[in-house]
Amino acid sequence: NSYLSTIPEGPPDAILGIAESFKSCTDPNKVNVCVGAYRDSSGKPWILPSVRKAEERMLKDDTVNKEYAPIAGDGRYVELALRFAYGNEMDLGSVAGVQSLSGTGACRIGGHFFARFAPKPKGLDRLPIYIPNPTWGNHIQIFKECGLDVQRYRYYDSKTNALDYDGLIADLKEAPDGSVILLHSCAHNPTGCDPTLQQWKDISDLIKEKSHHVFFDSAYQGFASGDAEADAAALRLFVKEGHNIVLAQSFAKNFGLYGERTGTLSVVCNTPEERSAVMSQLKLIIRPMYSSPPIHGSSIVKTVLEDEELTKEYYANCEEMADRIGSMRRRLVEVLKEVGSTHDWSHVTSQIGMFAFTGMSSDMCDELTSKYSIFLTRDGRISLAGLNEGNIEYVAKAIHDVTD
Ligand code: PMP
Repeated sequence: NSYLSTIPEGPPDAILGIAESFKSCTDPNKVNVCVGAYRDSSGKPWILPSVRKAEERMLKDDTVNKEYAPIAGDGRYVELALRFAYGNEMDLGSVAGVQSLSGTGACRIGGHFFARFAPKPKGLDRLPIYIPNPTWGNHIQIFKECGLDVQRYRYYDSKTNALDYDGLIADLKEAPDGSVILLHSCAHNPTGCDPTLQQWKDISDLIKEKSHHVFFDSAYQGFASGDAEADAAALRLFVKEGHNIVLAQSFAKNFGLYGERTGTLSVVCNTPEERSAVMSQLKLIIRPMYSSPPIHGSSIVKTVLEDEELTKEYYANCEEMADRIGSMRRRLVEVLKEVGSTHDWSHVTSQIGMFAFTGMSSDMCDELTSKYSIFLTRDGRISLAGLNEGNIEYVAKAIHDVTD
């Protein structure tokens, strides 16, 4: 009898498990509003035209090859990606940046970096990281795997369907000085609620007072407003305020590069010397995990951002996605009213980003799936990208039925 026979079946992933069930469902009316991936108005995955053009150029370029990237990835790609996040005014000379396996991989590198180098608050044997409640589910596992002590701060008030700003402030105050605070830089997943710029400023002041460390997770830059520059406002404010932020950047959503696993992890240091030391340590974290990153997605982003025309086209593509999602958000609320729902759904239109955090209970979500083959996470989150004119009435009627 081998040890293999003693291994218990693990639970399916909360999000990707639902995607599997969707795939195997045979109901012709089935709708997938679970996974946060963009779909066009006919429900199909979309390759951005600017991305397609970049790939065509890469195919014709005979200097392109399949050699290994360095441990830290393609330096030119990293530089352009950081420029995209931090803006044109930023001096990148003191920023340590590496390529990562999309946002997930960036969170993992950043988590290990904090666990290895940031001092533990007095009397604690593990460094606490405070993540919002709720948050992207994978954060919990990722930071546990890094050896951090995962704690939560209040983020959302389900009674008002809005940001629980007072709860957030109270919990960050309560956290031991020198904790890591994970912030979603825009379009918070799953709630779609972000602090206002003034609130961000006050959060920044409090974090300074408490000597906390800031870990920004940026998975939706450009997706929130359609304007990647505007969506970077909070992140850039914190840098301006002098925080040595760590940033996990993903190009999965805003470039539609999901499966290409394209991202960066960066640390804003104070001097080029610090940058150099931090770079060397980031490489030591990466090498035993996967040696070096994949090169196709990063070459695409580099090709787009190196070229003025393609960049312009890219910005228009990103805006098109954000606009379609925004219009589905408004349509959903409109159609809910049309089919007879008298609930107040105004929170759905005040939220931003890819998701509607509807406030439906897990029982209601289960009913949507069992009765209507509408697949969503059990926290009531709906990916608006999964909606289109062909299915929105069906979904609205079903939501009305289960919430009535
Ligand atoms: N952070 C947040 C908040 C996310 O929503 C996601 C994707 N769902 C990620 C990080 C990571 O995604 P990826 O690894 O595909 O870039």
